[in-house]
Amino acid sequence: MKLKTIVIAMLLWSPTFTLADEGVFTGKPYTPSTNVESNLPDLGDVSQTVLSQQDERRIGEQILREVATSDEVLQDAEVTDYLQALGDRLATNGPDKQQKFTFFVVKDKSINAFAMPGGVIGVHTGLFLAVNSESELASVLGHEIGHVTQHHLARMLASQKYDTFKNIAGIALALLVSRSNPQLASGALTAASATTIQRQLDYTREHEREADRVGLSILDNTGFDVRAMPAFFNTLQRGTRFVEGTAPSFLRTHPLTSERIADVSNRVQNMTYRQVEDSLEFHLVRAKVRAMQSFPQTAIDEFEDNIKQQRFNNEVAEHYGLAIAYLRKNDVENAVKQWQWLKTQGSQHAFLDNLAANIEIARHQPKKAELLYTQSLSRFPASRALIYGAAENYLASRQPDKAIEVIERKLPLLPNDANCYDLLAKAYTVKGKVLLKHQAQAEAYYRKFDINHAVEQMEFAAKASDGNFYEKSIVEARLKELRRLQDIEKEAKKNA
Ligand SMILES: [Zn+2]
Repeated sequence: MKLKTIVIAMLLWSPTFTLADEGVFTGKPYTPSTNVESNLPDLGDVSQTVLSQQDERRIGEQILREVATSDEVLQDAEVTDYLQALGDRLATNGPDKQQKFTFFVVKDKSINAFAMPGGVIGVHTGLFLAVNSESELASVLGHEIGHVTQHHLARMLASQKYDTFKNIAGIALALLVSRSNPQLASGALTAASATTIQRQLDYTREHEREADRVGLSILDNTGFDVRAMPAFFNTLQRGTRFVEGTAPSFLRTHPLTSERIADVSNRVQNMTYRQVEDSLEFHLVRAKVRAMQSFPQTAIDEFEDNIKQQRFNNEVAEHYGLAIAYLRKNDVENAVKQWQWLKTQGSQHAFLDNLAANIEIARHQPKKAELLYTQSLSRFPASRALIYGAAENYLASRQPDKAIEVIERKLPLLPNDANCYDLLAKAYTVKGKVLLKHQAQAEAYYRKFDINHAVEQMEFAAKASDGNFYEKSIVEARLKELRRLQDIEKEAKKNA
C-alpha cells in the first residue's frame, strides 16, 4: 500500500526534483519577493492549458466517487469535518476564493498529503500524528492548496499530449479503486508503467517553491504561526527517528532540498511573529485518530502511560482518547470513568457530547442517549456526527419516524450529505415505504457522484406502487433531471 500511495502522489501532483525543462512550464515564472500574494502567477494562464476547470472538476468528482465508498478512507464525520473546516478556512485566505476544496482522510500511518484535480486533497492519518501543532498541519494543507490554486497539474499537462490526460484520469481512478481492492491493483498497473508515466509528469521545482510560498501566505493571512512551515520541514527530516518508517513517502513526493528549506526560512524571518494556541478540536481530533489507529489495548496503554507521566499537550484530549479506546475495546466501565473525569473539567465540545451519548448506547441506555443527542444538537446544530448518532439511535430503537424527523430537520444545513439520505433510506425501509426508500437511495448515490446508480434507484422509485400523486410527480421530475445529467456525463466521457 505504501508503494501505491507514493505512486498516486507522484502521478497526481507530486514532483520529484528532476531538472525538468522549464520551457515546458506554461505558467509565468515565479518572481521571488517577500510579498507573496502580489507576485503569484496570473491564473489566467490556465485557460491556455489542456485541463479545463470543467475537466478538473469532473476528474475530482470521479475521485470523490471512490472516496465515498473506499475502505481506505477514514469515514469519520468528526475527523473529516474538522479537516474540511480547517481547509476551507485556509482556502478563503488563498489566492483563488472561487475554487472549491474537498478534504478527506486516508487510513495510512505514513506521513503524506496529496492534491488531486478539482481541489480534492487527501491527508494521511500519519500526518495528524506527526505534526507538533495545528499551525504545522495548516502549513501542509496550505502547501497542497497552493498546488491546486496554481493549477500545477493543469499547467504540467499543458506540455503533454492530450491522451496522457486521459491516462491520468484512468490511472488515478484505478489506483484509488485498488486501494480498497489490493488484488485488483497488482494487475491494473505495473510499477514499470507507473514509472514511465511518472517520468512524463514531473513537475518543476518552481511548482514546489510556489506551493510553499502560497502556503506561507495562507498561513499568515489565516493567523497561524508561519514558523510552523520550516518547523515541519525539520519534523520531516527527523521523521524516521520518532515515527518508525513514516517519513519517506512525504519526502519522496515533496522532496526537501536545502534550497527549498532556505527559501522558506528566509521568508519567515521577514514575517510577523505569532504565538498561536492550538484549538481544543485539534487536540481532540489527534487523540481520536490515535485511539482508532491501533489495537485498542495498544492505544489504552499509550494514553494511560502519557497521563501517568504527564506527557501531553492537552490533558482533556488524552482522557478523551482513552475513553474512545476503552469503548472500542467494549470496556464500558472504564470508558465511563474517563467520562466522569472529563465532566469535572467543564470543557464544552460537540465531540465530548457525542462521546457521552456513545457511552450511553454502549450501556444499552438508548433513552438517555436520545436525551443527550437532543440537548447537544441544540448547542451544536450542524454537527454531522451528532445528527448521524441521533438518527442511528432512533433507528436502533425502532423509531424510524423520529429518525426521519431529525434528518429532515437537518437537511437544509447539509443539502449535499449522502449519509443523511442513506439514513433516510434505512428509516423508510423499516417503515416499508418503497418509493421513498428508493428515492432517498437515489439522492444518496447522486451525492456520491454515482449518477448511474442514482438513475437506477430513481427508476425503482418511479415503478413503486406505494407513492401518492405528489410523491410520484416529484420522482418523475427528478428522474428526468438525473437522466439528463447521465447523458451529459456519457457525452463528456466519449469526448475525453
Ligand atoms: Zn508539493
